[in-house]
Amino acid sequence: MRKPLVAGNWKMNGTRESARTLLDGIKAGAMAVNGADLAVCVPYVFLQQVQEALDGSPIAWGGQDLSKEPKGAFTGDISAAMLLEFGCRFVIVGHSERRTLHGESDTEVAEKTAAALEAGLTPIVCVGETLEEREQDVTNDVVGRQLDAVLARVGSAGLGRCVVAYEPVWAIGTGRTATPEQAQEVHAFIRARVAAEDAEVAGALKILYGGSMKPDNAAELCAKPDIDGGLIGGASLVAEDFLAIGRAA
Ligand code: PEP
Repeated sequence: MRKPLVAGNWKMNGTRESARTLLDGIKAGAMAVNGADLAVCVPYVFLQQVQEALDGSPIAWGGQDLSKEPKGAFTGDISAAMLLEFGCRFVIVGHSERRTLHGESDTEVAEKTAAALEAGLTPIVCVGETLEEREQDVTNDVVGRQLDAVLARVGSAGLGRCVVAYEPVWAIGTGRTATPEQAQEVHAFIRARVAAEDAEVAGALKILYGGSMKPDNAAELCAKPDIDGGLIGGASLVAEDFLAIGRAA
């Protein structure tokens, strides 16, 4: 019912040359990925190159952040309209690296989600707890709070036009993955929380897992009933690995 999505998050990696090689590799293998949609979220400076490379291919693309403002004196920021101009379909919002390294609050993440939706982009809204929070057994409180901020701003109808990514902070870039059971538990919690607002939206909502997803653990994670694909960091920088995750999802 929910087609899985495997979205790469290149973060701040790559050169024009390495991006070309990676895009060529992904394009060459994309047709063999039948069961999942593919997307790459790239640094802004590569968007034109990515658009030229992927236009007409089955692979979508997007940015890794956006401004909540439409335009103006916001040095260094990028608007939703700018992303749209480069053919973006997706934009990552509230990645833990933005929340922790740039101090983005739940409210700001909700505002960015609204700005993306208003422009017609699909936000990939990231939520997830730190290791300390998991150890304190407050995972659901944290994830629930992050989700509620977005729900309060865009409503369940708005959330229905988003993708949610559950990314336990302790599993991002650490090689440490949540077990399929740990991930499923939080995914089910997220879906139930949305269902309390709107069962139909909850049933259709794609919830991706992110945190050291690799070719050798993707199938097991994605076999869980509430895991609808992945947001992939490190492994999205190697075409074969990214495609293997796509085939496994
Ligand atoms: C991410 O940054 O969204 C991520 C999941 O990274 P990694 O796959 O490298 O853990």
